[in-house]
Amino acid sequence: MTRRIACAAALAAGLAAVAGIAPASEDIPDKYPQSALYNKPVEVIPHVFTAIGATAPPTYDNAGHNNNLSFIVTGDGVVVVNAGASDTLAAALHDEIRAVTDQPVRLVINENGQGHAMLGNGYWADQGVEILAHADAAHEFEDRGAQGLEALHNYAGDRAGPTRVQLPARTFTDREVIEMGDMRIEVLHLGPAHSPGDIQVWLPDQGLVIAGDIAFHERMPPIFGDTCTSCWIETWETAFEPLGATYVIPGHGHPTNMAQVRRYTHDYLVYLREKIAEHLDNGGTLADAYYVDQSPYAHLDTFEELATKNAGVVYTEMEFE
Ligand SMILES: [Zn+2]
Repeated sequence: MTRRIACAAALAAGLAAVAGIAPASEDIPDKYPQSALYNKPVEVIPHVFTAIGATAPPTYDNAGHNNNLSFIVTGDGVVVVNAGASDTLAAALHDEIRAVTDQPVRLVINENGQGHAMLGNGYWADQGVEILAHADAAHEFEDRGAQGLEALHNYAGDRAGPTRVQLPARTFTDREVIEMGDMRIEVLHLGPAHSPGDIQVWLPDQGLVIAGDIAFHERMPPIFGDTCTSCWIETWETAFEPLGATYVIPGHGHPTNMAQVRRYTHDYLVYLREKIAEHLDNGGTLADAYYVDQSPYAHLDTFEELATKNAGVVYTEMEFE
């Protein structure tokens, strides 16, 4: 009896440790060693789940699960947001879906054209599941998918599995409304943001948005050479924030609210642009632009990898504005 109580206490302590808010940290290599996924999915609001990826670059340990892979159990089938970085991750997510519902997966939505949104498409296509993405994301993946696949093999080795470049079967440009089961799901392209064909999956009745890469949390957003930061800010202010979402599942980092993703995405972009504008006004060069002060964001994951790069990209963008 005593022994059983002791065991129960130990188990409870163990569960508390697991269930407790394990902070996002790029120093935690894997939170779910039993699975290819970095993290076990959590139910954010009723029937909406997300497997929160590592807030780190892709590695062998996280198997490339460094973005959020979400699914919506609608009552008449499951909608998945993001195919994941490989067939292995797509299959691992499918195992988790089967553990919570008998409903079949009926649609996969790719949040943009990046490898970790689309490289798992082959797995889902083989299951006979339709795949939807923005037309620009599909083009992006057509152009760069092979490169992404090569990168996957480099970091994931045997964990890459039989991944291939599989384009989405269906594309859209503006919005797609999906009525499935008890859910109204609005698939939106609100405007240019982080990368070509970024989409937002909005559940108006639940007040939840699966934001995609327009919104980052707990890690520094990467700014690419083809990213227009002024457009990103404008899309945020005129279309994304006005959705009025209560809950936000960002592209990266734990689910949170609009104020928090605003602080670490919108406000970061505004801050960096102000710093670079000052630097330009003072006749600063590109070589020095890398080192503008970004210390208010130094606590974010991937700061070391991205801060100087981001500054260089924004300098190049703003130089001729
Ligand atoms: Zn991403």
